[in-house]
Amino acid sequence: KKDTTRGGVAVLGLGRFGSALALELVEEGEEVLAADMNPRTVQEHAGLLTHVVEADTTSEDAMRGLGLGEFGTVVVAIGTDIEASILSASVAVHLGVRNVWAKAISASHARILTQIGVDRVVRPELEMGQRVAHLVSGQMLDYIEFDDGYVFVKTRPPALLHNRSLSGLGVREMYGVTVVGVKSAGGAFTYATPETVIRPDDHIVVSGPQHKVEAFARL
Ligand code: ADP
Repeated sequence: KKDTTRGGVAVLGLGRFGSALALELVEEGEEVLAADMNPRTVQEHAGLLTHVVEADTTSEDAMRGLGLGEFGTVVVAIGTDIEASILSASVAVHLGVRNVWAKAISASHARILTQIGVDRVVRPELEMGQRVAHLVSGQMLDYIEFDDGYVFVKTRPPALLHNRSLSGLGVREMYGVTVVGVKSAGGAFTYATPETVIRPDDHIVVSGPQHKVEAFARL
């Protein structure tokens, strides 16, 4: 694909997902163009995003007119109307956008998006449901899983870590996990070093393979 892109992110559809995404991107200092066909939605976002336009994102002419092809990243944030989602994604791919992301509401919706050339498909309800399952079932306070089964977990320290420094405990050898960071009550997270002494009311961040980290968090 061409690389005459100007960077920036275009968000197509300002429903709950698209709106949260666009506002967070602006918060992160990103330039965001958003398009939605609903005039009220557009009005609600005016002034909050870099550019908000009322447009039918399935229209190739309209999207060409917005210069969609020059954006580094386009996110198709339309879920409920699968037809509009697929047509909008197809336009973005056709206009040569280098990174096309799209939200899908079902497995078959996701498959079609992948088939027409979408680079990254996200399933927010599915992914969040799975994440919450891990939080609900254990002592973990936060949980992030990467594609390959590698996780980062925020948890309370198991008793074997209490009031001892990490050096010599052999956590990595014994449990196959790494204590990455420590946060004391009211303090900020810092990197764990061999000298770090962990208190019972600290929070720790542990990384490693999913099953090992979850077993460690249950100790
Ligand atoms: P969520 O579940 O995240 O709220 P929705 O699919 O319900 O997502 O919202 C999609 C948004 O996309 C709505 O604001 C709707 O107006 C907009 N939208 C749907 N179809 C089009 C289209 N063809 N052109 C532009 N905007 C559209």
